[in-house]
Amino acid sequence: MSAPTSSLRGELRLDEPLARYTSWRVGGPARRFYRPADATDLAAFLRTLAPEEPLLWLGLGSNILVNDEGFAGTVIHTLGRLGTLERLRDQGLRAECGVSCARAARFAARAGLAGIEFLAGIPGTLGGALAMNAGAHGGETWTRVRKVRTLNRLGQIKERTPEDYHIAYRQVEGPSEEWFLEVELELEPGNPSACQERIRDFLERRDRTQPIGLPSCGSVFRNPPGDYAARLIEAAGLKGEREGGAQVSTRHANFIINTGEASARDITRLIERVGATVERHSGVKLRPEVHFIGGETA
Ligand SMILES: Cc1cc2nc3c(=O)[nH]c(=O)nc-3n(C[C@H](O)[C@H](O)[C@H](O)COP(=O)(O)OP(=O)(O)OC[C@H]3O[C@@H](n4cnc5c(N)ncnc54)[C@H](O)[C@@H]3O)c2cc1C
Repeated sequence: MSAPTSSLRGELRLDEPLARYTSWRVGGPARRFYRPADATDLAAFLRTLAPEEPLLWLGLGSNILVNDEGFAGTVIHTLGRLGTLERLRDQGLRAECGVSCARAARFAARAGLAGIEFLAGIPGTLGGALAMNAGAHGGETWTRVRKVRTLNRLGQIKERTPEDYHIAYRQVEGPSEEWFLEVELELEPGNPSACQERIRDFLERRDRTQPIGLPSCGSVFRNPPGDYAARLIEAAGLKGEREGGAQVSTRHANFIINTGEASARDITRLIERVGATVERHSGVKLRPEVHFIGGETA
């Protein structure tokens, strides 16, 4: 790694394989890959980019499918860099976007702040959780957001509230060309051991129902209104089906596993086949939850 110019303090890599940074362990290289030193450094770096440079903000890579050709632009890798996390004087929590969901949940629980225990088992960053409106066990990220701070490609920081966004199930639309730099969450007073117990319970439930530890991106499809994607996929007889090294999990039908040698192409083909088979079988058109990067779509 090297610093891109003398005034910048982050690390720049060229042609960095993104398979290293995605939970599916697939994806070709990013033309440029930047790990900022901090928010000020990131703002300065963004100002050096051409206005048309494609940008991808990447957290833990647990909800993206990067195609085998990779990303012809600049990736901003937030994990472990934009990592400030602090309790505010009231029942608030302020966190930068590169803080992992698990760390935020445990920190809040220890501080006696309840309301984000559901984040403990989501293997993403808070930036990714904001972009996806990540949720589990009846909780959703945006129900706890007081305000966010965003950064645009001119390096300008803006303060925004939930009213500035259209927020739905696993879907967030807001001002374009702005990315989440940090969030302020509104929590409730809670008993630390009760919060920690809830976290343990949520993690155990995951262990029982999900193929944890195998490369996947969690649920591939959103649940359609009033039903479950996993139920529809299983009913269509797709559990265990394969395309190359990609396989529909035999444990949780809405998960697609990389069994070892899968390419992004294998995964894309399997997603397409699952979608088409479910539609033929039940008439329901499933919509992917995962974000496709690099031109391929399902
Ligand atoms: C085993 C497993 C279980 C999972 N369980 C759940 C679950 O229970 N509930 C759930 O909701 N999800 C779940 N997921 C999916 C995933 O963990 C979440 O969607 C998570 O919020 C993604 O965060 P990330 O940091 O990995 O985002 P990434 O995959 O890195 O990025 C996802 C999207 O967010 C954008 N993004 C990332 N950071 C920022 C930022 N700072 N500003 C703007 N955009 C940004 C990216 O550009 C991309 O479009 C699971 C995944 C796995 C592998």
